[in-house]
Amino acid sequence: MKAISRRSFAKQLSKGAGAAALASHLPLACAMGHSTEKKKLGVALVGLGSYSTYQLAPALQDTEHCYLAGIVTGTPEKEKVWARKYNIPEKNIFNYSNFDRIKENNDIDIVYVVLPNSMHAEFSIRAARAGKHVICEKPMAISVTECDEIIDACKQAGVKLGMGYRLHSEPYTKAVKRFVREKTFGDVLYVSADAAYRSTSNPQQWRLNRKLSGGGALVNMGVYAIQSAIYATGQNPISVSAQEFSTRPEYFKDTDETITAQFEFPGGAVANIMTSHNVRANRLYATCTNGWFELDPASTYIPLSGRTSNGPLDFEQESQQKLQMDDFAKHILHDAPNFAPGEMGKRDMVIVEAIYASIAQGGAKQQLKFEAGYGMGEL
Ligand code: NAD
Repeated sequence: MKAISRRSFAKQLSKGAGAAALASHLPLACAMGHSTEKKKLGVALVGLGSYSTYQLAPALQDTEHCYLAGIVTGTPEKEKVWARKYNIPEKNIFNYSNFDRIKENNDIDIVYVVLPNSMHAEFSIRAARAGKHVICEKPMAISVTECDEIIDACKQAGVKLGMGYRLHSEPYTKAVKRFVREKTFGDVLYVSADAAYRSTSNPQQWRLNRKLSGGGALVNMGVYAIQSAIYATGQNPISVSAQEFSTRPEYFKDTDETITAQFEFPGGAVANIMTSHNVRANRLYATCTNGWFELDPASTYIPLSGRTSNGPLDFEQESQQKLQMDDFAKHILHDAPNFAPGEMGKRDMVIVEAIYASIAQGGAKQQLKFEAGYGMGEL
């Protein structure tokens, strides 16, 4: 049975056009709003690489509002291994060709796309058309156009869309958002955000292949630095200027190695970000009118760590992926907030494209225009 709460179903019906879309795209059980009885939603992971194997699947053993119900893989040998390990019935196992048949499968409510970046749009759209809610990994896609296509497909199908931005469910990041919202340290004046690691093995990997990745460090770790700058100021930027540095061109043949970028925000705050596949860095620092706060590390899985001008931060550590997937399931089941909606993924891709445009123009400042609060998610 498809999961959708009565409240969100009624909301969608009241949108008129949405009602027609719902009726034509969603399974009858869903359109009849029967699924409120479902307590835990079934998740199918698409792409069983390292993130699915070592983070998402283990986290789905502990989630309270969703569970690992199915898999979609292009590697037949993985089918048996995963089926045995996670007790997945054969009917819930798909490959990239027969994936669209997932539409008829009532165990699966959420499709989580964990493929190389250039495949995010195709599989998110196919999942939406099959009437499944979608979680899309970061970066959302390899262009703003593709982000729009994903958002439109989900809207048309009346399904929910969330980004795999796990930090929005994580307590240290939530504290940063709270400091900004409550002006705990006054107004934020300057943010420095770095997200980077050093890549040395396997120059053939898809992350260094532009066709599959859509870019280098910027679309991989850079997205975290962009996110940090935004939630540490609580605003979308109004301009960006950027620079690219290449010190190992023999290794980074096809994608960017190191990028710095400077943002201006409407309230007067400024930010500098650095991302790289050549150096290690993982930090968020904000200085404010009455103090400062810092996370270091700021975007690793666990444990994050933080301190402020008032003293150290100390929160209970839990799997970020568990918290993230449960938050999204609660959004579907109980109309709880969507902390990382599709619009947030699109906004970040608008910024990524502006950074590449600035670099192409020798660092020229690019103006950014977002509607107030666009893509901010629930604060
Ligand atoms: P990975 O290389 O470990 O796995 C990629 C999977 O895609 C593999 O199962 C591979 O078989 C499959 N695949 C299908 N077609 C492919 C092709 N043409 N080339 C290469 N692989 C192909 O990658 P990963 O680390 O699991 O990353 C997957 C996605 O998850 C990426 O978009 C990445 O940005 C994202 N990710 C997010 C986080 C996070 O913290 N949110 C962490 C890691 C990865």
